[in-house]
Amino acid sequence: NLSDKLDRAFKVLKGQGTITEINVAETMKEIRKALLDADVNYKTAKAFTDDVRQKALGNNVLTSISPGQLLTKLMNDELTSLMGGTTADLNFPATPTVILIAGLNGAGKTTFTGKLANYLKTQRNKKPLLVADDIYRPAAIDQLEVLGQQIGIPVYANRESKDPVAIAREGIAQAKQNGQNVVIIDTAGRLAIDEAMMVEIEQVKDAVKPHEILFVVDSMTGQDAVNTAKVFNDRLDFTGVVLTKLDGDTRGGAALSIKSVVNKPIKFIGTGEKMEALDVFHPDRMASRILGMGDVVSLVERAQQQFDEKEAAELQKKIRKNKFDFNDFYGQIQQIKKMGNMKDLMGMIPGVGKMMKDVEVDDNAFKAIEAIIQSMTPFEKENPETINQSRRNRIAKGSGTDIQEVNRLMKQFDDMKKVMKQMSNPAAMANMMRRMP
Ligand code: GDP
Ligand code: MG
Repeated sequence: NLSDKLDRAFKVLKGQGTITEINVAETMKEIRKALLDADVNYKTAKAFTDDVRQKALGNNVLTSISPGQLLTKLMNDELTSLMGGTTADLNFPATPTVILIAGLNGAGKTTFTGKLANYLKTQRNKKPLLVADDIYRPAAIDQLEVLGQQIGIPVYANRESKDPVAIAREGIAQAKQNGQNVVIIDTAGRLAIDEAMMVEIEQVKDAVKPHEILFVVDSMTGQDAVNTAKVFNDRLDFTGVVLTKLDGDTRGGAALSIKSVVNKPIKFIGTGEKMEALDVFHPDRMASRILGMGDVVSLVERAQQQFDEKEAAELQKKIRKNKFDFNDFYGQIQQIKKMGNMKDLMGMIPGVGKMMKDVEVDDNAFKAIEAIIQSMTPFEKENPETINQSRRNRIAKGSGTDIQEVNRLMKQFDDMKKVMKQMSNPAAMANMMRRMP
């Protein structure tokens, strides 16, 4: 999957201190391939990788994060801004506010109409009215009425009429009469190539002058979604996009392509068949989803915040001189603790999140280690090699641990010091310590 592919792409960068032309070129190629596989169209993927590459080159790599992580962060920022940067809200410029729903058959329009009404009622304190404007199938009216009943929202329908324009007008008139302040018009699905149907929805638009026209699109349809969006936008000049069925396997690459092709904000995403399965669209979350990396970006950001560069440089000097001692070790534990709850942190590592659900992680995992270090004398902390068996016995007693635990820590510390000496790299150390105890 995409995640694996990106992992492979990043392997090229792993362990390299700076981002250079050479390691970026290979990585960008892989990333472009991965994006194409995630339904991002070629032009968008190319523009995207070119841009990230420009930004990545010459970027100073913080000692505490790997180039791969930095690149992930850059990509995430870039994707986020490509998808609009911030969340785009609905506009409510009038009473009633009229919202027209458009899209292909089976895209999820009727379901979304119900979800949106439910959201506006429960979260935005609105009083919506639904209008059944799909006149071609009696079942479509039934479907909307069932949903309306389920969420306690009135539905306007006129089963005798064959005039979608008139029905929309009647619905709005009824809303005015009954004090409903949002009218959501559910329409029939139509193919972009079906001229009569496209004209019909244009006529509804011209007649009722909707304040929002939301284009509903099935995210599973990939590249087709982009083409459809383009044609609908040319005809209707819609105000926003709704991506449905994001609860499936799809990575949501369509979101990126649609945004870059029609340049309209994505306002909502559908994540299931239930009326509650609706989310306001967050570009940053979708970026992480496209990258398939869970919340690895937050992890990087936290690491960036918490690891002071100067301190890291200082530490690196000590390691190079083999002067790393228990004071430094203790300091590093405090740094890691500052980064947050262990379970949260581990949950952000790709692939680990799901596993963590059933695992109890002790947030006090470092307690014993801290106690042991605190029971050392200042001389011992600065000179770990002097800690012999009798000192270890004393430390075990003083810290309320046992000799095995002290021995284990001493061994871990020795191993770590050896590896660190080889690597002379605080990032590697931080990684190692994250895996402890
Ligand atoms: P319409 O023809 O555009 O009105 O589409 P419908 O609203 O009738 O939805 C078509 C099918 O897709 C139905 O079976 C819905 O339950 C399903 N559906 C709609 N939105 C979602 C979604 O976000 N996730 C999933 N899994 N199914 C959805
Ligand atoms: Mg429908």
